[in-house]
Amino acid sequence: MSVQRILLWYRHHLRLHDHEPLHQAQQQNAQIIPLYCFDPRQFSRTSYGFPKTGSFRSQFLLESIANLRYSLQSIGSNLLIRHGKPEDIIPQLCQDLAIDAVYCYQEVTAEETYVEQQIENQLHPLHLSLTRFWGSTLSHRDDLPFPPEDTPEVFTQFRKKLEQNFTIRSPFPTPDTLPPLPEVDLGTIPTLADLDVEPVNPDDRGVLPFQGGERAGMQRVEDYFWTQDRLQQYKKTRNGMLGPDYSSKFSPWLALGCLSPRFIYTQVQQYEQERVQNQSTYWLIFELLWRDYFRYICVKHGNALFYSSGLQGIELPWKEDWKRFDLWREGKTGYPLVDANMREIAATGFMSNRGRQNVASFLTKNLGIHWLMGAEWFESLLIDYDVCSNYGNWNYVAGVGNDARGFRYFNIPKQSKDYDPQGKYIKHWLPELEPLPPHLIHEPWKLSQGEQKQYGVQLGVDYPRPVVDFFKSVKTNEKVYKEAVSN
Ligand SMILES: Cc1cc2nc3c(=O)[nH]c(=O)nc-3n(C[C@H](O)[C@H](O)[C@H](O)COP(=O)(O)OP(=O)(O)OC[C@H]3O[C@@H](n4cnc5c(N)ncnc54)[C@H](O)[C@@H]3O)c2cc1C
Repeated sequence: MSVQRILLWYRHHLRLHDHEPLHQAQQQNAQIIPLYCFDPRQFSRTSYGFPKTGSFRSQFLLESIANLRYSLQSIGSNLLIRHGKPEDIIPQLCQDLAIDAVYCYQEVTAEETYVEQQIENQLHPLHLSLTRFWGSTLSHRDDLPFPPEDTPEVFTQFRKKLEQNFTIRSPFPTPDTLPPLPEVDLGTIPTLADLDVEPVNPDDRGVLPFQGGERAGMQRVEDYFWTQDRLQQYKKTRNGMLGPDYSSKFSPWLALGCLSPRFIYTQVQQYEQERVQNQSTYWLIFELLWRDYFRYICVKHGNALFYSSGLQGIELPWKEDWKRFDLWREGKTGYPLVDANMREIAATGFMSNRGRQNVASFLTKNLGIHWLMGAEWFESLLIDYDVCSNYGNWNYVAGVGNDARGFRYFNIPKQSKDYDPQGKYIKHWLPELEPLPPHLIHEPWKLSQGEQKQYGVQLGVDYPRPVVDFFKSVKTNEKVYKEAVSN
């Protein structure tokens, strides 16, 4: 049967470059009808009542959609915008526009695969099918040296197996022209208010003014690799927390698919040829493999990632202590490293990897608060939220993940001294601690009365006293963990 019209359903791959469904549709010589649906479920609430897609990511999404529409227009096509559930919209469009096939990238987690299944069910009576392509990852699932269902539980094993015969496919070419759309209502891009999302308050203390879309993502690669020449130092700087260039900041564009990891890979290869090949160039790819790993772990374990007991099935008596949770999310725990990071994410939608590990450890290993509350708070706020990376990392830090090695916690005062020795990051986000010298800023609870007076920082007034004693709280939670594991 000749395929004349293909509906190209855009989901998390908001780009033209390296886009297999788009490329394959082009190969069919079909008329391609690109579509994006704003699904109201994405703008509802999480189980703990946080906005599922908060302001930062919503804004980034709207910018990404606008850029995608513009890019499609500039090569002769356009982007249809619809509001509603894809499983209602797509079958109807198929009938209205006499569509012959629907192409999309497949997803791997419950909410997304449910929608795919619903669409398939609706298309079946119309004698149509949903053709799903594998994407998102650097390594293609068909090139793994094991079936995704047998993904090794431990990241190092996963990586080593992959690296034995490292196969990364070339990106698909970017089309320079597409056929025009038929007569159809194009639909409008909503505003934040239309989506019932609070307006964004830009904060110029953020690491980058993240702008959504393929064009801005490409520009970031250009800046970080080529203009600023930062890649060659990435391994040394990646644990930083302050400023635009300690790490790539590619994550928001990767999460919405404005950037393809394979495109980044080819850029790293080019950089290695033209500038330098060193541990840093390797390390960026290494980090991208973490992203792949969590996605394949989701394929393997399905919904277990979202269970309270996590991938390991460890039933812990997690607390749902809202009073302390609020102190954590508002950056008022009395631990400057935690507070600075929590204020950063609340003000900007971004936090460094170092910060994420520390605040997640503090919530779960010091406060004993349910990791799902933290994961949902991150889901709501993060501009780079990715379901597999977020829930996978939270499982891991909370000690219920596949690769968790017993009860491990971050020594936050030590981390603070190691990664922010001068306290610059802390002062950036906690101006009330500005007067303190570096040797006093990491553990302000140790300030004597005289020092409090001398520096004008009164504990309990200008800055909170610690919500818990660090080591006592770790011990308590370790005991709880050990009891749960031994049961
Ligand atoms: C509790 C917790 C929650 C997290 N939630 C998310 C999330 O929702 N979305 C997300 O993209 N990352 C998440 N991460 C991973 C990591 O913190 C971010 O990917 C990273 O900070 C993004 O900054 P970057 O792009 O500058 O990273 P870089 O250091 O420049 O790394 C390059 C890329 O590698 C990938 N990467 C790096 N570290 C990890 C990792 N640990 N897990 C998965 N991918 C990684 C990202 O795609 C990143 O963009 C989480 C980590 C923790 C500890």
